[in-house]
Amino acid sequence: ERDARRAAPLTPGRLADGTAVPLLANLGSADAAAGAVAAGAEGVGLFRTEFLFLEATSAPTVAEQQLEYGRLLQAFDGKKVVVRVLDAGADKPLAFLHDDTGHEDNPALGLRGIRALRAHEQILRDQLTALAAADAETNAELWVMAPMVATVEEAEYFTALARELGIRTPGVMIEVPSAALLADRMLQATDFASIGTNDLTQYTLAADRLLGSVAALQSPWNPAVLRLIAEVGAAGRGLGKPVGICGEAAADPLLAVVLVGLGATSLSMSSAAIADVRASLLRFDAAQAAAMADLALAAVGAAEAHSAVRAFAAGIA
Ligand code: PEP
Ligand code: MG
Repeated sequence: ERDARRAAPLTPGRLADGTAVPLLANLGSADAAAGAVAAGAEGVGLFRTEFLFLEATSAPTVAEQQLEYGRLLQAFDGKKVVVRVLDAGADKPLAFLHDDTGHEDNPALGLRGIRALRAHEQILRDQLTALAAADAETNAELWVMAPMVATVEEAEYFTALARELGIRTPGVMIEVPSAALLADRMLQATDFASIGTNDLTQYTLAADRLLGSVAALQSPWNPAVLRLIAEVGAAGRGLGKPVGICGEAAADPLLAVVLVGLGATSLSMSSAAIADVRASLLRFDAAQAAAMADLALAAVGAAEAHSAVRAFAAGIA
């Protein structure tokens, strides 16, 4: 099986019936682009931009950022690249951003993501300006999304500002339960959604993703998480707008099929996970993926959802 995979490593992601499910890479710097291309990534589903800011004692300039985004976009000529604007907060403090806010007892619930950017709008303006400039010089298909969006008003704010600064395809991450519950309105306010299952699981289960003692609670197989994802998938289908997944859940080969059954239109993961997810998608058609999603949604907990889906998969040749 491994040999067969190696023989055709670059086929696009699809289900057994041919339904396309683009397999994209999560990247943390432009240096990682070559590895993603080699792994068969069809584009980038999450480009985290924190690395440009975290070590810096002053904000990176528009020109510095443009250079880095240009390198990324060049590596994915003709392909989709989803860049996430800065996701900083008290857990990932920036010397120049957080001087005036200081310590927070609950950084996961604090001034992070779009909230922090809004409080320091020039940083967001510069980043969007640099992205639009890099886009104009290259031929990738650039989409830009905001992290930690909790309200429709925030989605409207980001979408308007991004368009004003020349971003053609703005979108929002869905990683807060309030955003998932209002997914239809969120998607009406913007062009696409990408579900961050790491934070969505953390906030749905009220279990700190960095705390080992509550790690057992942090399963994206939990039907509560899956119901929220189903809400977003249904909204995307209803409005004809893309709904990607960019959290770790997309790297689990069986859960990836469930996510497609719930309405995900693309999956983004670490490059190393792409081969196994590609092989898993090929085992099931769209009706089977939907059936697996229904089984998981009907379960009472994460373990039950996982075993029901595993049993279904084992019953398929
Ligand atoms: C997520 O929350 O699932 C996500 C993709 O973003 P990050 O892991 O960077 O918070
Ligand atoms: Mg997140």
